Amino acid sequence: MLTDAYGRGVTDLRVSVTKRCNFGCVYCHDEGLGPVARPRARHEEEITIAEVERLAAVAREFGIRSVKFTGGEPLVRQDLESLVSATVPRIPDVSLTTNGSMLAARAEPLRDAGLKRVNVSMDSIDPEQFRSIRGGALAPVLRGIRAALRAGLTPVKVNMVVFRPTLDNLPALIDYVGGTEGLKLQLIQFMPELVPRRDWAVDIGSVRRWLEENASRVRVREMHHRRVYRFDRAEVELVDPVDNPEFCSNCHRIRVTHRGELKGCLNRDDDLVPTRGLDDEGLRDAFRRVITRRVPYYGGFVTHLVPLPQVGTGGRASPVDRSASAPAGPGRS
Ligand code: SAM
Ligand code: SF4
Repeated sequence: MLTDAYGRGVTDLRVSVTKRCNFGCVYCHDEGLGPVARPRARHEEEITIAEVERLAAVAREFGIRSVKFTGGEPLVRQDLESLVSATVPRIPDVSLTTNGSMLAARAEPLRDAGLKRVNVSMDSIDPEQFRSIRGGALAPVLRGIRAALRAGLTPVKVNMVVFRPTLDNLPALIDYVGGTEGLKLQLIQFMPELVPRRDWAVDIGSVRRWLEENASRVRVREMHHRRVYRFDRAEVELVDPVDNPEFCSNCHRIRVTHRGELKGCLNRDDDLVPTRGLDDEGLRDAFRRVITRRVPYYGGFVTHLVPLPQVGTGGRASPVDRSASAPAGPGRS
């Protein structure tokens, strides 16, 4: 396994297969690479099936265990099934994050290609509010979720971004996932770093307190140390990266951009390592380079943190300083 200078072994690969999208979410960070492009925009630069296949082969050599396809909207790509089937023989644990709007017709073909699970982003079950946040229609997304359940792409995680406009939607979303076997709710803290609306950020501590007070049971997942809240028949997980050094110290993921560059952190674009045209040894070096440059973003971009002396194999304690003062962010208390 490749381990960075902070003792974080890398086990997951998140591959953005396109920058194009048929929605226009008000909060979209698009992997930190600027605004999404329209579905019919030129896209010659997008990562190819052969490139994904080679990246997966090298990732497997380095002990990477799971791949998640994302975007932009990955279902804009008509060859997503082929991207999945090219990956599965190398890394069987392949999942997808999608806006769900084109999932209904493709859930079965994707399952047949080897896809295991799907996350569908849905911040509201009110069609008008949904459209005002995501710039698209809710009904096809609900059909997509039902098709994913039927195809066995479970658990289907419903991703809800928690920001000011969606805060009041929590009870309704909890009821929605609780009412259907196979669904889970994943609450994602709005990340204001990449979108110029810091005033949308909410006090995530109060959301956590609300969950703790209202859930019937709380457990901490081993992976990522995330808390999982049980509400009657609904399971709810909170992903709260912002200003959270513990989140970054538990981050075991590297990313691939739609142009095939390796990327060490969602919140950085100064660490891209191109891979196009490299031979196998060059590709291995690219993985080593991006991992050497990985720095925990929250709590890590402070100069007094001292990384471990060299990149090596796993098992080291993280030196992330939990007392480090996090960057200030308006709208949060
Ligand atoms: N188009 C797909 C979708 O919407 O699910 C995949 C790409 S999208 C960039 C991946 C996830 O990031 C979605 O769940 C989306 O809601 C979330 N997301 C986008 N911008 C965000 C932000 N500023 N803060 C938190 N989550 C965000
Ligand atoms: Fe961004 Fe996904 Fe929304 Fe498209 S659907 S605008 S990629 S968050």
